[in-house]
Amino acid sequence: MISRRTFNRALLAGLAAPLVPAVAGNAFASAEAGALTTVSDGNLVLPLNFVLPDIPQAELAALEGAPFVQSGELTPPCNLTLVRLPNRLVLFDAGSGPNFMPSAGLLTESLAAADIDPGAITDVVFTHAHPDHIWGVVDDFDEVVFPQATFHISGTEWDFWRAEETLVAAPDDRKVFVVGARSRFEAIEERTERFQAGTEIIPGIEAMGTPGHTPGHTAFVIHALDEPAMVVGDAISNDPVSFARPDWHWGADQDREQGASTRRMLLDRLAADKLRFVGFHLPNGGIGRVEADGAAYRFVPAI
Ligand SMILES: [Zn+2]
Repeated sequence: MISRRTFNRALLAGLAAPLVPAVAGNAFASAEAGALTTVSDGNLVLPLNFVLPDIPQAELAALEGAPFVQSGELTPPCNLTLVRLPNRLVLFDAGSGPNFMPSAGLLTESLAAADIDPGAITDVVFTHAHPDHIWGVVDDFDEVVFPQATFHISGTEWDFWRAEETLVAAPDDRKVFVVGARSRFEAIEERTERFQAGTEIIPGIEAMGTPGHTPGHTAFVIHALDEPAMVVGDAISNDPVSFARPDWHWGADQDREQGASTRRMLLDRLAADKLRFVGFHLPNGGIGRVEADGAAYRFVPAI
């Protein structure tokens, strides 16, 4: 007897053929060398008191350009960076997949709309292992979405989520983060390379330890582009808060003090070097630059 699961898979496989005609190789053939773009995975919906749990209302109200102060809810976009190099198609993070939030997990559709076959992606590089960054490596049938890819993740991040004390210490409503990361690790383990901060993980792509949001959170400097860029993941995660109030503790950071000092360090460097960068949860596709603004900063979207 055919299981419902097998049936669904067969059904989808049949449907996918005419809907997603792109085949491996097309993405390279049409790509200009060294291009960087972002693809959307949808957005998250987060209560304000989750992301800014200890900021007094009066200080929040003084923040300009932050509609969530009134609504009490944030709806951050999720931007996955896609870099085309001469012999590689590199995706940074894998999105939420189908089981995290109804408003997220749209990567497969976004790739299809951009005429990119997930099978053409040669490398998937993780900034960290939160649900909106790694759960999307598997589909509804627990099958790996990127059949040809090598996966890259910080060894520190890998060990953190696998440690027994991480599960024990996680609050009840966050234990699913630990269980979810572990099951995704299991699905991709055979094709995963664990790296150390400060190393070149792919020719022209350098891993930069940026701990705080998670212990192994990593930013990446992509030197192998005509114009270099940095992928900062969730180390700089909200416009305007991360820029206008970089020292405010961010509720989603595992170590909020460390998260704030890492953010300062990155903002300083991005502003000084005028380096373009991609923020996973920043607006307008997440690509932009940082400008100093007195003792703080501002985000200048590239588009
Ligand atoms: Zn995130």
